Amino acid sequence: MYKRIFKAIKKYDNIVIARHIGVDPDALASQIALRDSIRLTFPEKKVVAVGNGSSKFSHIGALDKLGNIDDNTLLIVTDTPDKKRVDIPNVDLFKHKIKIDHHPFVEEFCDIECIEDTACSACEIIMNLIKETKLLCNKEIAETLYIGLVADSNRFLFDSCSPRTFSLVSYYLENYKFSINELNQKVYNRPLKEVRLEGYIGENMIVTDNKVGYIKITNKLLEKFGADSASPGNMINNFNFIEEILVWVTITEDIKNDIIRISIRSRGPIINAVAENYNGGGHMYASGAKVKTFDDAMKLINDLDEVTKKYLEEKER
Ligand code: AMP
Repeated sequence: MYKRIFKAIKKYDNIVIARHIGVDPDALASQIALRDSIRLTFPEKKVVAVGNGSSKFSHIGALDKLGNIDDNTLLIVTDTPDKKRVDIPNVDLFKHKIKIDHHPFVEEFCDIECIEDTACSACEIIMNLIKETKLLCNKEIAETLYIGLVADSNRFLFDSCSPRTFSLVSYYLENYKFSINELNQKVYNRPLKEVRLEGYIGENMIVTDNKVGYIKITNKLLEKFGADSASPGNMINNFNFIEEILVWVTITEDIKNDIIRISIRSRGPIINAVAENYNGGGHMYASGAKVKTFDDAMKLINDLDEVTKKYLEEKER
């Protein structure tokens, strides 16, 4: 599979690298690192990484403008299982497409589909791709890959971190000698107002009898804390390891896009099947969704409560 990807990269002079809407560090880092590795290996090629960025993640790297697309432009999509979530105007304009993803399979929309759903992050796959092919790497690229991997595995906390994850990290650390402390500061330093919002969530989270914790955050609250609608979702991993909670959810009003953004995490019950019923999806234990109203969000909470109740009953048997 990696050989086929390398051959395609070698063949095309114009390459566009995209990833999913609602940018996160792994999606962004995987596309930026792959772009920079291809540029380093083939300086004559035109390679761009595209999509809507976020100033919060600007330390990962700058994105490019999408130029002309012709029949000989190759699209590589990282970290995205389905066509509708690719952050690019029209995926069908590209005649040649490659997917590199670690989400559970949703649909086939590329000629080459490299899906490794046991990888902890898209960056883990790109690390392996670079290591196993003639794609080149340098310290900056290694750092970018490490940032994406650490962010998506939530600092190696999940079972998706396998012996391969650690051996890849070890390989890159050994060869490119970056500072873990410096990179962690880039990823995890944040303004006090975010910590205050996190405090609010901790204080006000509602917890059901079945161990589902949820918090509604209105635009008014976001304004009060000087935060944006992405902030609650960005801090959701910090609510792991609370004894009384197995599934936890942030429900955030996003007036700019006229939607309610939902982030869900779990320490047991499988949540992506529920998210899929609410214009969402994701991984078994980390999913997201989008709904129109807080009432719809409460329907999702009720469904998650049912799933968690069944999970607890089965565990007790
Ligand atoms: P988040 O809570 O936004 O960090 O998302 C967690 C996981 O769910 C990531 O793998 C996302 O790609 C995925 N995800 C988030 N929102 C959606 C959505 N509306 N549809 C499908 N997948 C989503």
